[in-house]
Amino acid sequence: MSNPNRRGAMALVSASLCLTLAALFYFTAPAPALTASAPIAVPAAADWGLSFPTEGESPVGNASAEDLAQYGAYYLGDTSQKVLYLTFDCGYENGCTEAILDALKKHNAPAAFFVVGHMIESAPDIVRRMAAEGHIVGNHTYHHPDMSSISDMAAFQKELTDLETLYQETTGQPLSKFYRPPQGKYSVENLKQA
Ligand SMILES: [Zn+2]
Repeated sequence: MSNPNRRGAMALVSASLCLTLAALFYFTAPAPALTASAPIAVPAAADWGLSFPTEGESPVGNASAEDLAQYGAYYLGDTSQKVLYLTFDCGYENGCTEAILDALKKHNAPAAFFVVGHMIESAPDIVRRMAAEGHIVGNHTYHHPDMSSISDMAAFQKELTDLETLYQETTGQPLSKFYRPPQGKYSVENLKQA
């Protein structure tokens, strides 16, 4: 049986000029405890990046899905399935988000939008629409800092919880627990903190 969501998502890849396809970091609670002997193949601090060496095949990240999974972080789903996960980085509204939402609605394709404080403050109606139309709205921090330069747990947490509070006040709903590191910068310490 065909899956309309899946078909819609595939079609959108070439349909939207504003589309950003990027890694989806998803932190489940809590990450498994690490031991001193656990292999640390995730770089100590890194700029996240993907390459697309083979058409029709999964992209390759600069840390492997297995290594990231140690910390509850993901960029690939079930690779035996031909499914694309559409994720959008919403640092500010430059006029294309509503067109994206229209296209997603037309194709019945759920997506994930990673918002920062400025986006919620400046375009609350659009953020409410994301929530109302069943998309994942994820945490991209309040101020979009380089989180890998923040070693203090309280400061790290505040970037996430301040955004959660603003989102809850704006939409009346809790923000999802999906988190995308701003600027693609992350560290092993950040992954543990998240
Ligand atoms: Zn960003």
